[in-house]
Amino acid sequence: MVCPYCKSQGNIGKHGTYIRSSDGKKCRRFRCRACRKTFSETHFGIDYRLRKRYLNQYVFRSLCSGVSQRRLAIILGVTRAVIARRLIRFGRCAQHNLEVYRRDREKVIKLNFDELETFEHTKCKPITAAIAVEDKTRKVLAIAVGRIPAKGPLVHLARKKYGPRPCERRKVLTALFQDLKTCVGSVGLVKTDQSKAYPPFIRAHLPAWTHEATPGRRGCIVGQGELKEGGWDPLFSLNHTYAMFRDGLKRLARRTWCTTKKIENLTLALYMYAWFHNLYLDSKKRTRLKLEWIP
Ligand SMILES: [Zn+2]
Repeated sequence: MVCPYCKSQGNIGKHGTYIRSSDGKKCRRFRCRACRKTFSETHFGIDYRLRKRYLNQYVFRSLCSGVSQRRLAIILGVTRAVIARRLIRFGRCAQHNLEVYRRDREKVIKLNFDELETFEHTKCKPITAAIAVEDKTRKVLAIAVGRIPAKGPLVHLARKKYGPRPCERRKVLTALFQDLKTCVGSVGLVKTDQSKAYPPFIRAHLPAWTHEATPGRRGCIVGQGELKEGGWDPLFSLNHTYAMFRDGLKRLARRTWCTTKKIENLTLALYMYAWFHNLYLDSKKRTRLKLEWIP
């Protein structure tokens, strides 16, 4: 066991037990001999200091099933803070789980990536979320999020109202490839759309990989852009996963009232959904969020 305060290892002694008042569970306490602080076994759990822990799995599944935070609070008869707190906690947990998953899984040889566009507060402040998906299995591998300037008819209005906005696309793609490093094989096939931004990154980070750029196609009405019209779609794994993100996370749905207010929380929500998505693909009956350690 590692001390959560000073991170010293193997220097932990027993320090009695106590009965947790919120659910009557008997919990063990420990004491670190290095910093002399005490902590309990619950310190490492996902429900540490959350009293309504019976809600956790339900909140996790609902937030990943297109329910808004506000409506979920009404359904459960709790305050919005109960939900908001859990979104952050679950997002961090999922981010950690995804990191471990990348490290421990077999090497990926076929992957697709693209950027999903959304915004914070107003369409004048767009955000890009790069998401890498394994081909065929549709498992989400990595996510990176950053700000981009407004484009099209909103350019002038956005500049006038909110000033210049940085373009973090380079940073986002670099972060994405950095994360992918732990799970990709030395050779493979990467499929993207025909964006001119991608080839330099692929050459730099996946030098021996083959790059296949597919022309964009018109979206269906159902699926609102991500699902493409009829026939064979070479980027199906990617587009289908993106459509599922938009359906699963209320704030990503088209024409919704719910918007992102903080880019950090959008990132956590994306991680949360990604983990739910991977769990669901593994087994439709076991979408339980698990965690041993909260960083
Ligand atoms: Zn310590």
